[in-house]
Amino acid sequence: MARVLIIGAGGVGQVVAHKCAQVPEVFEYICLASRTQSKCDAIAGQLTRPIDTAQVDADNVAEMVALINDTTPDLVINVALPYQDLSIMDACLETGTHYLDTANYEPRDTAKFEYHWQWAYQEKFKEKGIMALLGSGFDPGVTNVFTAYAAKHHLDEIEYLDIVDVNGGDHGKPFATNFNPEINIREVTAPCRHYEDGAFRETPAMSRKSTFTCPDGVGEYTIYRMYHEELESLTRHFSGIKKAQFWMSFSPNYINHLQVLQNVGMTRIDEVEYQGRKIVPLQFLKAVLPNPGDLGQTTKGRTCIGNIIRGKKDGKDVGVYIYNICDHEACFREVGSQAISYTTGVPAMVGAMMMLTGKWMTPGVFNMEQMDPDPFMEKLNIHGLPWKVVESATIGWNPED
Ligand code: NDP
Repeated sequence: MARVLIIGAGGVGQVVAHKCAQVPEVFEYICLASRTQSKCDAIAGQLTRPIDTAQVDADNVAEMVALINDTTPDLVINVALPYQDLSIMDACLETGTHYLDTANYEPRDTAKFEYHWQWAYQEKFKEKGIMALLGSGFDPGVTNVFTAYAAKHHLDEIEYLDIVDVNGGDHGKPFATNFNPEINIREVTAPCRHYEDGAFRETPAMSRKSTFTCPDGVGEYTIYRMYHEELESLTRHFSGIKKAQFWMSFSPNYINHLQVLQNVGMTRIDEVEYQGRKIVPLQFLKAVLPNPGDLGQTTKGRTCIGNIIRGKKDGKDVGVYIYNICDHEACFREVGSQAISYTTGVPAMVGAMMMLTGKWMTPGVFNMEQMDPDPFMEKLNIHGLPWKVVESATIGWNPED
């Protein structure tokens, strides 16, 4: 039995708290801490077992160290924002505490989505005898594990990887993002990079699109190619990959709003002078947009996120599609959140469970695909994210069409 400290009480933090609380045989003690303690208290009030809450500024390493010393967790689950990754990792190093997150570190002034800052902690974590598990959400996270699972059970060599993230949900608002608006819009407006023939190639943001028909009646959606951070680690760890792409669905309404916001400068991440003080337009925009954590009440429909993986088995061309479908309303009934927070929070809990039960415990800094996928895949089925595998012949979608 173990002790966990969860940092961040947003949409994802709420799901992680619920899901850890559901498994007392692993998570004996839980403390939920964030910048605003009242948000932690509100989440604690939804749970059927008591947890501790605390206030912390996770940008401040000394504050994080003091909180870790107070609560003595075995593991810190970081579901605050990517800006806090390094300060929390520093606090974990100082206190000898294991670390897990769901998004890679980003400096505030440039949207980079690169792992090198966190990979640089490899030797320090190893020497200290502690583990950091990076990107234990859905994408990155489950999509990395799906790739490792296909490599272990279905293919000898992965050649083509397409990750397709469809959100078939409707929140009923004119414009809203499904997770932190600042991070979401930075991601969507960044230039697209995909991997092809040994290098990443850059194309303008949202300049390539396709139509994808999801299985199990989820429907047909327009998906746009964009950069996503798991492409970096997956092409590093599966060196035979010839081409890797990430696709995400957006409604025409989302695209129209985003274009207007971009055209008028509201998605800028540099500081502008406003009435004698400096503000970042995208941060101001976040303050006026709906809170993603509140969208659960109105969101209907399903998500369908999966990997189409093609390559060779016994010299023959083969392929698989591994995917999960998640229902927004069912998530809301269970934990009071929509499916985007749910599909991120469940893998964070399962990744924590893998570490704390010793299935994935190795000192150093690791991406999900470096671990044995089987125990993680088994727990996804049990804890709310069941998955299916189908032969690629039945997918009926070719990214080159
Ligand atoms: P929210 O904005 O809803 O929540 C973020 C939380 O972090 C808030 O409670 C916020 O506090 C807190 N926080 C921010 N800064 C600090 C700080 N300096 N110290 C302490 N707490 C802080 O975001 P989400 O829950 O939607 O997303 C959480 C994380 O999950 C993000 O990193 C996001 O990128 C990642 N994510 C990963 C996905 C995946 O599949 N891998 C998918 C979706 C999200 P306050 O309330 O006071 O602002």
